[in-house]
Amino acid sequence: MDMEYKDTEVANAAKYLKAKFVGMEDKKAILRDPKLLALYQRIKIVNPNERAAFGRELNYLRSELETLVRESVTSNLSPVTSIDVTAPFDVNVPYQNRPKLMPAESGSRHPLMTELELILDIFGRMGFTAVESRELDDDWHMFGSLNFPAEHPARDDYDTFVTDEDLVAPAHTSTMQNRVLRNHKADLKNGQPIAVVIPGRTFRNEDVDASHEHTFYQLEGVYVGRGIHGGHLVATLKAFLETYFQQKLDVKIQPFYFPFTEPSFEFAMSCPFCKKAGCAICKYTGWIEILGCGLIHPNVLKMGGIDPQAYTGFAWGGGIDRLVMMKYGIEDIRHFHSGNLKFLRQFA
Ligand SMILES: [Zn+2]
Repeated sequence: MDMEYKDTEVANAAKYLKAKFVGMEDKKAILRDPKLLALYQRIKIVNPNERAAFGRELNYLRSELETLVRESVTSNLSPVTSIDVTAPFDVNVPYQNRPKLMPAESGSRHPLMTELELILDIFGRMGFTAVESRELDDDWHMFGSLNFPAEHPARDDYDTFVTDEDLVAPAHTSTMQNRVLRNHKADLKNGQPIAVVIPGRTFRNEDVDASHEHTFYQLEGVYVGRGIHGGHLVATLKAFLETYFQQKLDVKIQPFYFPFTEPSFEFAMSCPFCKKAGCAICKYTGWIEILGCGLIHPNVLKMGGIDPQAYTGFAWGGGIDRLVMMKYGIEDIRHFHSGNLKFLRQFA
C-alpha cells in the first residue's frame, strides 16, 4: 500500500522513482538516483518546523525503495529445491528422466571373496591368525628381506610393477614375511609358535590371457617354532586342502628353488576332480601343482630378528584365483575382474 506523501516534492519524487524502477536493469541503482539524493540535500534548507516530518517521509520513501530492490532480487531466483549431495550423479535429476538404479537385492559377494573367507576360516580353526597384505611396498620387503641379493637374476622372475618413486606393487604376498616375523617374534619367547596367514592382492606385468592376469590374489602362510620341519609343512597343507575340497587327497613335494626358502618345494595334490584317473583340469596327469613352499631360509629368519639356531619354520604362497577356478570349473581368469554380471550372478 502506497503512503500518501504530504510533502509535494517527496510525493513527486516517489512517483518518478517508482516509475523509473520498473524499467531499470540494475535495480539497486535506484538507491543512488540523483532525484533521491537531491531530497537529502534539501533537509538542510527546509523550514525547521517541517524538518522532522520531511525527514520521516524521506526515510519512509527510502525504505519503500529498498523493499522493491529486495523483492526484485529474490523473484529472479528459481525456487530452491533440496538435493542429496551424497547421491549417485543421476539421483538429483527429475525422477522421470532418471535411469533406473539396479535393485540392491541383485548384488552378491564376489566368488573370490567368498572363497577367501572360507579359506581363512579353515586356517583360523587350525590356529592361524590372518594379516592382510598391502598394495604398495618397497624393494626391501619385496626382495631384500627375502634373501634376494641385489642384481639377483631371480628378481626378474617376478615382472614387478615399480613406481617412479621406486615403490613396488607387491608381486607376491611374501612382502609381508619380514613384518610378520618382527611383529610376532615375542610370541616365540612366550613359547607360542608364529602362525599367520596373509591374504592379499598381488600384481605382475603379465601378458594377460585365459590363465594369466596382471592382478590376482595370493595366500601366504608363515609358521615358526622350535623343531619345525618339512613334515609339519606337508601335514599342514594336506589338512587344509582336504578340508577345502572335502575329500582325502594324496600330496607330494618336488624340489624347487626360491631364495627365501631352503629347501624349497613345489607342492602337488592328487586331482580332487578325477581321483587321479585323469581329466582336463589335471591335464590327464592325476596331479595338480598347487603352490610353492619350503623351510624359511635362515637369513630370512635373521632379518626378522629371529635366531635360526633356536627356531625353524615353513612358509608357502599360493594363488587363490586358480584354486577357485578349479573348484568351480571357471575356464578364464579374466572373468574375475570383468565385472560381467552374467558371470557374477552364478555365485549369488
Ligand atoms: Zn583330474
